[in-house]
Amino acid sequence: MTDIYGILGHPIGHSRSPAMHNRAFAELGIDAMYVPFAVPPERLPQAVAAIRPLALCGLNVTLPHKSAIIPLLDRVEPDALAIGAVNTVYHEAGQLVGMNTDAPGLSRALVEAGVQLTAANVSVVGAGGAARASVVGLARAGAARIAVMARRNAEAERLVKELQPAAGQAVLSAVPWEYGALARAFAATNLVVQATSATLDDGPGAAELAASLPFTSLPAQAAVIDLVYRPRETLVLKAARAAGKRGIDGLGMLLHQGAIAFEKWLGRRAPLEVMRAALEA
Ligand code: NDP
Repeated sequence: MTDIYGILGHPIGHSRSPAMHNRAFAELGIDAMYVPFAVPPERLPQAVAAIRPLALCGLNVTLPHKSAIIPLLDRVEPDALAIGAVNTVYHEAGQLVGMNTDAPGLSRALVEAGVQLTAANVSVVGAGGAARASVVGLARAGAARIAVMARRNAEAERLVKELQPAAGQAVLSAVPWEYGALARAFAATNLVVQATSATLDDGPGAAELAASLPFTSLPAQAAVIDLVYRPRETLVLKAARAAGKRGIDGLGMLLHQGAIAFEKWLGRRAPLEVMRAALEA
């Protein structure tokens, strides 16, 4: 019988996860299928209740359900609870368990790109779900200091207060959204993580955000990753490159968060190169 995996979201038509996972199943000769499920918010409890009767083997979860699914699961891993977002559901000992693979997915993508995370000084731009996952993932990967900056200072301060206990040895701080303060933070930064949604489709706020970030203050060897991968070359990455800094797009994080979910579900290594090719197609 064909095993069914899938992703819960709304809307879901844009998701690249089905192409990525179905390519992986085909590569490994696994009789399985990964299906996009368009689930409106009010139907999420019914969708979660259907996982067992429909024998769904594993799920990804995307907007707008990443936080709302938490109380519907039997158990949620501590890092996903701290982040406040689940993007992967797996079965364990009869329980439905939620985890967040965005956090380790970002670290894996950065390590693959040759970015040193041990003892790194990082600046995270944004204070939403992706920023929270980034902070926890980078802290787990050994970052020494993580400065968080958001257009609403109170949100950055809240993030720091809430996530410091989960961040262990990494020292978190909130930086005021003001050019001089951002420039001082960037001068001590090895890595900038653009974790806002402003650059999605390079929407109305993208140009302003790109101009607000003092990339020329970064040390010469610093790298800038934009978690947004549509477009791959966002206005923020263009601005970073114009300032002579290394830019990394968000496709690697998308790949690795999917690969970690795949490995959790199937207990075997994900075929990274065919999955990457599926995302790039
Ligand atoms: P959220 O909606 O939770 O958070 C969005 C954040 O962006 C908020 O802090 C918001 O600030 C900020 N923001 C939005 N517009 C602007 C702007 N014009 N200027 C400054 N800040 C702005 O979204 P997520 O955190 O879940 O996701 C953010 C992006 O990360 C998504 O667009 C997604 O594409 C990407 N992502 C990529 C992944 C990958 O695998 N590569 C994985 C997960 C996410 P405010 O609260 O003030 O509105």
